[in-house]
Amino acid sequence: MKRAGLDEVCAYLRQMELDIQVIEGKEHTAVAILSEVATLPAHLFSQIPGVEKILRAGSRHPLASNAVREPKPGDSAAWSAFGSQSQPVVIAGPCSVESERQIVETARMIKHAGAAMLRGGAFKPRTNPYDFPGLGKEGLRYLAEARAETGLLIVSEVLSAEQVETAEPFVDVLQIGTRNMYNYELLKEVGRTRKPVLLKRAMSATIDEFLQAAEYILLEGNKHVILCERGIRSFETRTRFTLDLNAVALLKTMCDLPVIVDPSHGTGRSDLVRKMSRAAIACGADGLIIEVHATPQRSISDAGQAIGPQELKEIVEDVNAISSLLKEREPIDQANTAAADSALSALETMARP
Ligand code: PEP
Ligand code: MN
Repeated sequence: MKRAGLDEVCAYLRQMELDIQVIEGKEHTAVAILSEVATLPAHLFSQIPGVEKILRAGSRHPLASNAVREPKPGDSAAWSAFGSQSQPVVIAGPCSVESERQIVETARMIKHAGAAMLRGGAFKPRTNPYDFPGLGKEGLRYLAEARAETGLLIVSEVLSAEQVETAEPFVDVLQIGTRNMYNYELLKEVGRTRKPVLLKRAMSATIDEFLQAAEYILLEGNKHVILCERGIRSFETRTRFTLDLNAVALLKTMCDLPVIVDPSHGTGRSDLVRKMSRAAIACGADGLIIEVHATPQRSISDAGQAIGPQELKEIVEDVNAISSLLKEREPIDQANTAAADSALSALETMARP
């Protein structure tokens, strides 16, 4: 703001009982509000006569920015898998649970292929109301049976607060799908459980909106949120969505929550799943969630993107190899960064008058 209106602005803020500090510059003057105003709308300040610009200091998603992934004793097996992972965590399974036999057999196959967790939708969000809606509670029972048979941890989606209560005893990870990332009441509901939450990015969400959705869950006390990039809507029509791997690399610099990638929905094409799985791990993802079916072309839902168990095995081998290579190179990367930093500071010293 300009110096002229300063007294009025300060008087206005003091009348709101806010602690303030004036910072005078050559051309502009800033007024820092020291009191807690995170919950107040910005327009309360922008409309004060004399105010030119509002700058918010600090993060809009402080819990997500500061979350710590390191597992503690007593944490669930699913969360610990991400916290102490030495290899990428691969979650695999059909789009939908179709029958008892299908899910138990698929579980055996994906375990053999090296996956750590079994996915399968019992409650399906379908764009068309006439499409298969999932087997509901019956599907959850089949998932629990697959867990008992194989020891694989279970990931399944919930669409409503009631379904959270129904699904909780049967699953190890509650999935929030892309269509529900903005369903704040549902986010709060899973935030009140103690099951890790796999939160998918809404297909139209910015990265900041995605982290603010995670914040809703964290704010309720559930510290175990796994972020999942699953593709966003773009102008491209050759793929079902556009898998935004920028988001993965960026999220890894913004927070310590695990970030996984869904190359199945992200591409919608089984022929691209292996390549994008490799790319996801290469850019820093902690894991993958992949749709796998014993006979992909017969999947009731999302047949075009399902891969078979043999391809899953190859993907697990690929991503383990890529991840080991990246780990081997970590000391080299760190040494290169340190060398670049010291060269830069030497240059800065030389440039100083
Ligand atoms: C799913 O994982 O089955 C699913 C419906 O995913 P998304 O919410 O990403 O579309
Ligand atoms: Mn699907």
